[in-house]
Amino acid sequence: MSVDVFLSESKIQERIEQLAKMINKDFAGEELYVIGVLNGAFMFTADLVRHLNMPVTIDFMSASSYGDSTESSGELKINLDIKVDIKDKNVLIVEDIVDTGLTMTILKKNFEARGPKSLKLASLLYKPARNTHKVNIDYLAFEIEDKFVIGYGLDFDGRYRELPYIGVYSAEDSQ
Ligand code: 5GP
Repeated sequence: MSVDVFLSESKIQERIEQLAKMINKDFAGEELYVIGVLNGAFMFTADLVRHLNMPVTIDFMSASSYGDSTESSGELKINLDIKVDIKDKNVLIVEDIVDTGLTMTILKKNFEARGPKSLKLASLLYKPARNTHKVNIDYLAFEIEDKFVIGYGLDFDGRYRELPYIGVYSAEDSQ
């Protein structure tokens, strides 16, 4: 098994700069609360905020969805919640990948209930082929085909998050 580069480090960084420009424009003169979703979005969040030029407050959360992913409702298990109060704040959720869309659908609902001034979503990746829950992604870096990807925060069994690029497994036998 080896890992093939699917999205290179330079391609990812270039796209993040473009997204940051859009966010800087949309929130010019405003404050922004950036909430990174652990563990997968830690690297994307860290790279994105480096290019933001408004006053930024950064926090992280960890949540998982459970229940039947084919149903329109699902339960959200919050493993680690944010410590900041987002009432009347501009909030940007930063996620690694929207796959079925279930996690983000219920996470956004949970955040809406906290009364933010605005709520936007940035996602590094989106897999339309597997989407069952339509979720609006305000800032999307890459739409990808239905492949299981690893690296740049994304894991396989806890591994490969440290890779600076996004990769896919190749059947080729090498270490
Ligand atoms: P969903 O959108 O289906 O509710 O779930 C999204 C979550 O599934 C992501 O946050 C991520 O943890 C996981 N996931 C979905 N597709 C992939 C993938 O291709 N690679 C990895 N490493 N995780 C994925």
